[in-house]
Amino acid sequence: MRDKLPLVGEPLPLDLINTRANGPAGEVDLLVSAQEFRPWLDSQAGRLPGPGSAGIDLDALRALRGQVETAVDCARDGVEPPAQALRALTRAQLAGPLHRELAWGDGGVTAARVRTGSATGVLLAELADATVDLLTDPAALGKVRRCEGPGCRLLFLAVNPRRRWCSPALCGNRVRVGRYYQRHKEDAG
Ligand SMILES: [Zn+2]
Repeated sequence: MRDKLPLVGEPLPLDLINTRANGPAGEVDLLVSAQEFRPWLDSQAGRLPGPGSAGIDLDALRALRGQVETAVDCARDGVEPPAQALRALTRAQLAGPLHRELAWGDGGVTAARVRTGSATGVLLAELADATVDLLTDPAALGKVRRCEGPGCRLLFLAVNPRRRWCSPALCGNRVRVGRYYQRHKEDAG
């Protein structure tokens, strides 16, 4: 199933955008069926609410992905995102309102982050919230890059400024192999 997950483990908004990718066999979209979506959601354990992907409204998730991609693309270019995209992100946060539930434990007051709303609403709100974090963090935005692999559209956060590919094993290797054959052809000719 690993080959179904083009790239995960980047900041959430980038993982969301990356659910649409150009695979070797054409475009892959993990948000078209629950069967494709489930492994992706599992891969986000600890960052997004886990089980229950059966009830998730994938149309709503795809719509949010479009707005997230537009907003991130604009913000990276220093261009004002369309008001519609920003409004959609605000609305998505309201779909799963956040509060901190207070309790007493270990001799002190504890506060746990809790979202209320439907499974879809909570998911939309978590993704929108993470997108707001990225959009309002110029340092992080400046590190967002698109993979240099031919035809690859995946985004990543270049924590290491020398990173050029979504994955050295995939695109990095493809580029190296391409160069090798190119050189070989030139030598032969
Ligand atoms: Zn790539």
